[in-house]
Order: sequence, then structure tokens, then C-alpha cells
Amino acid sequence: MKYHSTRSGKNRVSLSEAIEKGLAEDGGLFVPEKFPAPDWSAISNWNDFPSVAIASLRPFFEGDLLGSELEDICRSAFNFPIPLNLITDRVAFLELFHGPTAAFKDVGARFLAECLVRIRKNAKKELTIAVATSGDTGGAVAAAFFGKPGIRVKVLFPKGRVSARQEKQLTCWGGNIESYAVRGTFDDCQKLVKEAFNYPEISEKTDLSSANSINIARLLPQMTYYIYASFLYEKLTGEKPVVIIPTGNAGNSAGAFWAQKSGAPIRKIVLAVNSNRPIPDFLETGNWSPRPGIQTLANAMDVGNPSNMERIRHLFPDIEQLRAAFSSYSVSDPEIRETIREAWKMSSERVCPHTAVGEFVRKQVFPDEFCIVVSTAHPAKFETIVEAETGSPVPVPPSLGDLLNRESSVQEVDPDLSAIF
Ligand SMILES: *Cc1c(COP(=O)(O)O)cnc(C)c1O
Repeated sequence: MKYHSTRSGKNRVSLSEAIEKGLAEDGGLFVPEKFPAPDWSAISNWNDFPSVAIASLRPFFEGDLLGSELEDICRSAFNFPIPLNLITDRVAFLELFHGPTAAFKDVGARFLAECLVRIRKNAKKELTIAVATSGDTGGAVAAAFFGKPGIRVKVLFPKGRVSARQEKQLTCWGGNIESYAVRGTFDDCQKLVKEAFNYPEISEKTDLSSANSINIARLLPQMTYYIYASFLYEKLTGEKPVVIIPTGNAGNSAGAFWAQKSGAPIRKIVLAVNSNRPIPDFLETGNWSPRPGIQTLANAMDVGNPSNMERIRHLFPDIEQLRAAFSSYSVSDPEIRETIREAWKMSSERVCPHTAVGEFVRKQVFPDEFCIVVSTAHPAKFETIVEAETGSPVPVPPSLGDLLNRESSVQEVDPDLSAIF
């Protein structure tokens, strides 16, 4: 299997190269040249997520140096449960938040780390991963790479603009993880990371890479849990599900389309967004108009220019194909609050503000359908909002509790490269 840019079919590269490069040379995102459907009948235990992931990914690793390591990579990366929680005879939550930092980004970040460590095994220089974060990504990347040999991580976050628990997850590591509280905005942090790639003084010292969600090693594992969940759902209910995904940068959603392409029994894909509306507006008008992000209660989805739309548009090149492929709905902050309250009152389910965006769309648009709502974060990560609406304390899962008890270490810096590299 080879990979090429969304912007051109030339320059085909191996999986390992696509992972190490991150972004294609023409600025496009890497996509697989085809979507083969594995022999699903060979899977005997659909409850064992790592086994399903290994079978799903085998064709995508074919011919690559990492091919012989696929099983090890999956067993090491996916060492936490991913339950499909059926709360009625037709509504299920796919709980992606049982990893070390309590959000779905652990799945992709841990898979990327296992791949990169193996790709870099014989590298001469240390690899520095620079990651700018508005909250969840930095913690997942730090946790995934903590203690990995030959790799250093620099986490940049905007000082005073992440929640207390998010900040703890960004700063509690030490060792090969360095945390920088930048006196500025998330955009300043992102600009610093981009600039670092253009400085020869930095590239002489270290190889540089980034770990944001455009990396194909974060996308591929996000395909596998849709395959696992939709087959499992079909076995439990006899129906193909509508899959509703709380969406920001659209990496998680791109994984769902790839799963459907690979033969997963998904009836319909729905992208649920907060007040950041470029995706539903695009479906409505046919004009793609990215814009600055708006702050909402579902802060990990505050994205005004969702970069993985480029992968989705590559699958469905014209607007009519896109309209046939999925639908998208926007949910306001008051609707998020109302949904958190209702889910607690009606079903004793605590949902985080992101999951609430998906659950609101299910109730409003698909009330009688067979649905999977994707749960992207643990409610304890956004406890101030969830506790205010439910009036009851959110128990902290043990892995998150361990992180919250660690010492913090962080350097406060001006938005200036020389303070960081
Ligand atoms: C990142 C994130 C999202 C959005 O996922 P995308 O792949 O960016 O669309 C949703 N919920 C949570 C909790 C997240 O951390």
C-alpha cells in the first residue's frame, strides 16, 4: 500500500515515510491509494478491539517496514477498553475516553508514538516533536511519548487559556517532555511551531516533527474503532447505525468515512459541530469559507478551519457527492447545557460538553433511529460544566487521578523561538 497527497496522485510514499513527514511536500494531507475491504469473516471475537484493529489495518501496513510490527503496535497502543455502551435498544455511546488523558485523542497519539519509536529506531539524531495545543492534544501527545527513547516533546500552550485539569495534563511530566506556557494565544503557539520548521539553526541540532491530527498515524487508528463499533452494533441490534460524531478539526470524522469505505456497516455519518459552522455552512451553500474559531463550552471543537475536511473532500470531490455522503448540524452553548442536564435526568448518563453536541443532534434530528453517538471525552475532564448542570460531583477515573496528583513543571515564556529551542 502506498500513500499520496490529497492534492496530487504523484509522489507515492510508503506508510513509514508518510508518518515521518506528517504533511506532503505540496502542503496536502496523505491518503491511502485505495481502501481494500479485509476479510471480515476471519474475525471471531468482535469484542476484542485490538484484534479488530489489527485485522482492519493489515492492508494499510502491507509492504511497509512496520508491517511485521503491526500486532505489537496495536497491543501496546490500545491497552485500555473502548466500550460500546448500549443505553436503550437503539442508542449506544461509543466511549473513546478511557485512555490515560481521558479523551479520544489518546487512541491516535499512542498509535503514532508506537509507530514513530519503531521508525526512528536507528536514527542518529534525536527527534523533537513540537506540539501547539489549545487543550486536549498536547496532553495526549505528552502522555503517549513520555519516556520514549530518542524523542523529545515540546508542548506549547497559551498561558491562562486552558482549564486547570487540562494544564495539569500538559505540565505533569518532566523527563523528555518540556512544557511551555506561552504569553499569548493558541494562534501564537501554532505560529511558533510552524516557524521552527524554517530555522536551519534548529534543524542542525535536531530532527523536527509535529504530532497534530493531520498525521496519517493518527487517522488510521481512528478508522478502526468505527469498524469495530459498527459491526458490534449490527450484531447486537440487527441494524446498521447512524454514527453521530462531535466534530472540530474533522480527523475523527475522516476516520469514520475511511471505515465506511473499507466496508464497515455504517448507514449514515453525521458531523455534529458547536457554534463553529464552516462545515454545515459549506454543505448548505457549496462555498468553503474558513474563519476564526469561536470560543464555546466544547472547547476542543473550537476550530474555524477544520484541516481534515481536505481528506473528506478528496473522497467526495463535488458538493452533491458530499451532500449525499453526510449531514452536519450546529449546536449552541445553551443546547449543550440542556443536553448535559437531560442526559443525567433521563438516563443517569454524565456526558461531556463535546459528547453533548452529538447527543443533542441525535435527540433533535434522529430521535427514533438506530444510532451510535461518539463520546469523545470523559465528563471528569470538564467537571466544572458537568457538575454545574447535573448538581452532582463527577467521579475522577483512576488514570486521570494519578496525573492530577503529579507535580507540575512548566516554563513561562514570551512567544519567541529562542526561548523554546
Ligand atoms: C479533539 C476533540 C474533538 C474534535 O475532534 P476532531 O478530530 O478535531 O474533529 C471532539 N471532542 C474532544 C473531547 C476532543 O478532544
